[in-house]
Amino acid sequence: MDTYAVIGNPITHSKSPFIHTQFAQQTGRSMCYTTLLAPLDGFERTVTTFRENGGIGLNITVPFKFEAYALATRLTDRARAAHAVNTFRFEQENEILGDNTDGVGLVRDITINLDFALPGKHVLLMGAGGAASGVILPLLQQKPGLLAIANRTPDKAIALQQQFVNHGNITGGHYQDFIGQQFDLIINATSASLHNALPPIPADLFHGTALVYDMLYSSKLTPFLEFASTQGVTNLVDGTGMLVEQAAESFLLWHGIRPETQNVIRQLRDELHLHAS
Ligand code: NDP
Repeated sequence: MDTYAVIGNPITHSKSPFIHTQFAQQTGRSMCYTTLLAPLDGFERTVTTFRENGGIGLNITVPFKFEAYALATRLTDRARAAHAVNTFRFEQENEILGDNTDGVGLVRDITINLDFALPGKHVLLMGAGGAASGVILPLLQQKPGLLAIANRTPDKAIALQQQFVNHGNITGGHYQDFIGQQFDLIINATSASLHNALPPIPADLFHGTALVYDMLYSSKLTPFLEFASTQGVTNLVDGTGMLVEQAAESFLLWHGIRPETQNVIRQLRDELHLHAS
């Protein structure tokens, strides 16, 4: 049976096996999809062993997306632009095709599932890691009025600004640098919620915000979404829809079919609540 996995550290929280199993059933594919824990200093070693044991493809999650970019021997255009890879397809002669489906997943969730129009909007993207860099180009392609990137380590946000400066109106810095500005949409692409922590976002930045989005998927409000709620924001969304949409794009790359996502998003939300209770 064809074997796929999601590789990361930590990895036990991942719902990718659940999602891909739903996709496989829906499209009549026979495949096995598991989780793969890689030591922090052992990403390449773990990928090689998985491949030698017959693995066909991988999803890559925190904190290995930059290492995955370096390991790929061929890149899709969107992965090359992101400098980060979340999907591997193993090919002949030891080639590895690296793709990045995070951005299209996020944009599909925001614009189609949540029906939120991005053109002209002011967007604050928090974080400058693999997830953030993967979504910048697809967000800019939606022509927001401004895309501001805030990061705890501001140099990384400034580096992303410089990387994408020719693709739209983009700026970068520390959270404090954006005090006094108003954002229609705030997206948390930090890994703080994974550790139950709150990024250092000033409360004032939520003033007038229509939608607050945390990329982490969870059965309960993350500290970030809770904080946004105390600031009066009512439209609070977690990353369940993005997760399913980016998985659907990976499935398309591997199998040539784009699975239906709406029912799977619903099923995943039910599953998350079931395991939380
Ligand atoms: P990385 O490890 O590459 O980057 C982590 C980022 O988070 C860095 O910018 C880091 O800042 C910042 N950060 C970490 N802790 C804190 C904190 N306490 N306060 C402020 N900033 C913090 O991770 P990824 O970019 O790969 O993943 C980020 C998140 O996105 C994860 O929670 C992941 O689960 C989620 N995700 C969800 C997806 C979905 O489909 N729903 C898809 C992809 C990712 P610094 O540079 O200063 O260290």
